[in-house]
Amino acid sequence: MAMKEQAPGRCPEVWRPRDAAEACRLKTAFGPDGVFTAGGTLLRTQWESGSAAMPGTLIDLTAIPGLAGIRADEGQLVIGPLVKLSELMRTEAVATAFPLLAEAVRRIGAPSVRNLATIGGNVASAVGDALPALLVHEAELLWHTGGRTETTALEDWLADPGRAQGVRLLTGIRLKRTDAEAPGGPPGRIVGAYRKLGRREAFTPSLVTIAVLGRLSEDGTLTGVRMAAGGGSAVPMRLRAAETVLEGARVTPDALVRVSEAVLAEYRPASDAFAGAEYRRTAAANLIAAEWLRLAGAGREGDGR
Ligand SMILES: Cc1cc2nc3c(=O)[nH]c(=O)nc-3n(C[C@H](O)[C@H](O)[C@H](O)COP(=O)(O)OP(=O)(O)OC[C@H]3O[C@@H](n4cnc5c(N)ncnc54)[C@H](O)[C@@H]3O)c2cc1C
Repeated sequence: MAMKEQAPGRCPEVWRPRDAAEACRLKTAFGPDGVFTAGGTLLRTQWESGSAAMPGTLIDLTAIPGLAGIRADEGQLVIGPLVKLSELMRTEAVATAFPLLAEAVRRIGAPSVRNLATIGGNVASAVGDALPALLVHEAELLWHTGGRTETTALEDWLADPGRAQGVRLLTGIRLKRTDAEAPGGPPGRIVGAYRKLGRREAFTPSLVTIAVLGRLSEDGTLTGVRMAAGGGSAVPMRLRAAETVLEGARVTPDALVRVSEAVLAEYRPASDAFAGAEYRRTAAANLIAAEWLRLAGAGREGDGR
């Protein structure tokens, strides 16, 4: 049974459901005036900036057992949405198998923010900086939709986060060690990079974020190539056309020009108050080409990561 806490003044009422089904029932009952809250760090910035109104009711998810914690079994990791970014950074299983996610999280906010902010809030926002890393690691999202559970590829959900109608509570983020990531997979070494571009070096909102991942063989051929871009208010996306340019190819100057052109053609971020769409596209294309050049060179020197 949920507990209701009445806050004084103009503050919203806070409900604390005890399980996912109850959280969904509350959301259904309150409609748009009831908002799921985890760490509350993004919501707070939205209220302060005026980009979202403070709702009448907060549905605080933090008392729901099972939404926190990281489970590892049989080559996969299920990350609870209430896992704090700081905990994710410290988890060895994440750093070892999904290093781009660990790096992306390390670049979000500052320690005080990461101690409150959750990975679920970052994902559910559809614009969080962890998303490009999760995209190249081919994450799946587990949802509770009231009566049943559902699994969606992150890429499909991001293609249209509003498409799935009705009440949806994120209950897990599943990452599988695919062939490309598992030790003992096809020959070659895994190479990958995550980059965040902002207006200053640290503690900065992103303008552009990119992630790239692949397997580099000894002769310099890339396979299992994955690329994604996002940043700012842009909903991140996999860059499927750009991936095909490097799949089975070597990182030559000509290939890098074609990758860059493919990113420019495929990536369509919007402008916002911090940067124009053209700047974001160009920066994403340049960052991706530069990272592949660096990774191919590092791979040849025997230092793939
Ligand atoms: C100073 C500061 C700096 C920041 N810097 C960055 C940054 O560099 N990069 C970045 O990406 N973000 C940044 N943020 C935003 C924010 O901290 C992160 O996105 C964070 O991960 C959000 O998590 P949260 O738990 O606080 O989400 P909340 O604010 O609680 O929720 C965010 C959204 O997700 C929804 N939600 C939360 N959990 C669930 C769930 N389980 N199921 C369904 N919906 C859910 C909420 O309804 C809300 O719409 C910053 C915030 C602050 C205050």
